[in-house]
Amino acid sequence: MLVKEIKELRSLIKAWKREGFTVGFVPTMGSLHEGHESLIKKAVSENDKVVVSVFVNPTQFGPNEDYDSYPRDIDKDLTLCMNAGASVVFNPISKEMYFDNKSTGVSVSGLTSVLCGAKRPGHFDGVCLVVSKFLNIVTPDKAYFGQKDAQQVAVIKRMVRDLNIDVEIVTCPIIREEDGLAKSSRNIYLSDEERKAALVLSRSLSLARKEIKNREKSVGKIRNIIKKEITKEPLAKIDYVEIVDSESLENVENIEKSVLVAIAVFIGKIRLIDNFIF
Ligand code: AMP
Repeated sequence: MLVKEIKELRSLIKAWKREGFTVGFVPTMGSLHEGHESLIKKAVSENDKVVVSVFVNPTQFGPNEDYDSYPRDIDKDLTLCMNAGASVVFNPISKEMYFDNKSTGVSVSGLTSVLCGAKRPGHFDGVCLVVSKFLNIVTPDKAYFGQKDAQQVAVIKRMVRDLNIDVEIVTCPIIREEDGLAKSSRNIYLSDEERKAALVLSRSLSLARKEIKNREKSVGKIRNIIKKEITKEPLAKIDYVEIVDSESLENVENIEKSVLVAIAVFIGKIRLIDNFIF
């Protein structure tokens, strides 16, 4: 079922709650693939009702980013959601979500000044604003996010904790193509040649994981291994290669406890991200 208005969604959810149903929520920007599908299926397995939002959120795109050209296909998305067992797809128009004279923002400091936050100023303010609005509208018991966007998960968890939002944040593993490329809505932009070059992300991370497994503790050495591998690929340009504490996202020098190894790489004009936690 497709819902476009907040009012209609709220009355549906109120009726579910009166019946005692639990509600799961999966926020997405659409152009859905098996990565999103895995979140929806997990939500369906853990809740009586599941709401999937499909909304290309303008406030999280920078002025020179791909908001206008971001892929959109609501009919295909609706079919995928219904087949995966979702109850409702919420697909608001921008005017439904944002007042012209809105004056409230949501900003998480510290965690957002590194990795993608450092490279995409304002991005996480946009993410936090839209996610907090969705959590207020849907009031889910659980909300599902992909480890693919590792920093987003850390930021959302911090926001939910700090604002006492009554929801459990569930993190789901990265879903990959058979050859290792992390699934992403942006992969469709890649030419055949770029698609092959994009494998350098997962390949360089595999090398790093192997080194860490072999008890290499030096963050500097691991970063160099990743950078060296990416530099071999002529179509690739490093945006960042970082190894940080997996919860605080603060820099570490040696691998002593759980770390997030996160990279962002331009393949041609397309910026791709990948990561693992060790
Ligand atoms: P997006 O539509 O890109 O905003 O993503 C919506 C949600 O799906 C986010 O929580 C993403 O982390 C998650 N997601 C996107 N791609 C993948 C993937 N390959 N594996 C797992 N989760 C993913």
